[in-house]
Amino acid sequence: MKARVIPLVDERMRRMAAHALLHDEPAGSVPVHDTLGRPLHDLRISVTDRCNFRCGYCMPRELFAGQGLFMPRSELLDFDEITRLASVFVSQGVRKIRLTGGEPLLRRDVERLVGMLAMLRTPAGEPVELTLTTNGSLLARKAAALKAAGLHRVTVSLDALDDAVFRRMNDADFPVAEVLRGIDAALAAGLSPLKVNTVVQRGVNDHEVEAIVRHFRHTPVVPRFIEYMDVGGSHGWRMDQVVPSAELLQRLARRHALLPMEPARKGETASRWRHADGAGEIGFISSVTQAFCGDCNRARLSADGRLVTCLFGRHGLDLRALLREAGAGDAQLGAAIRGTWRARSDRYSEQRGSQPPGDAGDGRVAMHYIGG
Ligand code: SAM
Ligand code: SF4
Ligand code: SF4
Repeated sequence: MKARVIPLVDERMRRMAAHALLHDEPAGSVPVHDTLGRPLHDLRISVTDRCNFRCGYCMPRELFAGQGLFMPRSELLDFDEITRLASVFVSQGVRKIRLTGGEPLLRRDVERLVGMLAMLRTPAGEPVELTLTTNGSLLARKAAALKAAGLHRVTVSLDALDDAVFRRMNDADFPVAEVLRGIDAALAAGLSPLKVNTVVQRGVNDHEVEAIVRHFRHTPVVPRFIEYMDVGGSHGWRMDQVVPSAELLQRLARRHALLPMEPARKGETASRWRHADGAGEIGFISSVTQAFCGDCNRARLSADGRLVTCLFGRHGLDLRALLREAGAGDAQLGAAIRGTWRARSDRYSEQRGSQPPGDAGDGRVAMHYIGG
């Protein structure tokens, strides 16, 4: 079976956008809120659907090999289009932008895009928080340029410290030492504090968690353990491969004295704990066992310009068509974004228990397409 890019075409969304264009709504209150009262606050922008890794939980090699899997370059939003859309999102309430992918550092000159986004200002004249999630493979080379361009922080994905386990998980024979070099380069460049994301899979890398916690004690790096999710529905996800955060915490608490911390802000995805001896912080992202849809304030923009309102979304509003074909102005784009967010009622993770796990091609958007 071959993976494919899932077309995000939906008549309902198209009609909503057309409605917004025709009845250009007044700017209204900012931020815009959805049907569950959640404000639009974060925007995750996927800058490419390509990746040099083949993590089994995201782009398994058996599905992601061969030609024609990825978008042709002409389909991608260019940097002017991304910046223009981002500025409209900011006008509707977005205060934090995360660049992601695919692997965002594979997008040529991505530091130039960072520089353009760093110039954005909120209506109050404040800069927007600008971050990026990367697999770290190119970070040693790019960290200083990213910082100089205006990036505030970076999150690095790192699933194991043991080189053999790491190479097996990225399935690209990529050495862990190079990612660790990237983390050092990011810290040296001032991209700090830095978060490390580890997707934990039972029997694959759950034995690495203790080593990761030990490795980053007494550093400005915050390891965060993510429950393996059924994203995209294309990789044979099974509940018994999920290690619940509560179980991980119990295991870690045998060796480390950990104290709970307050969330830094509403909508934060991780529950935070700190070492009682002051050696730093760790986090758990329990998207399967303790869903956090109630505070979810994240919109996603795919590399080809679709607005997706949930990581598990099946549909996207085609903002690129509004930009390129309809020649929409900022007010019209703003109205289309407002209309989509206002209609949003997604809470997939909270409802997961009542739905069967998805199989390939069930219509959910793949993670590498809209970004994590
Ligand atoms: N390539 C970059 C990276 O790996 O950091 C950015 C894109 S990646 C899709 C974003 C995040 O999603 C990564 O931290 C990755 O570990 C996480 N992720 C991907 N598939 C996942 C899954 N099935 N369950 C949980 N997290 C997942
Ligand atoms: Fe690539 Fe990131 Fe997906 Fe791994 S998780 S395959 S690094 S996009
Ligand atoms: Fe947000 Fe969707 Fe994840 Fe719930 S399932 S937290 S709505 S992205």
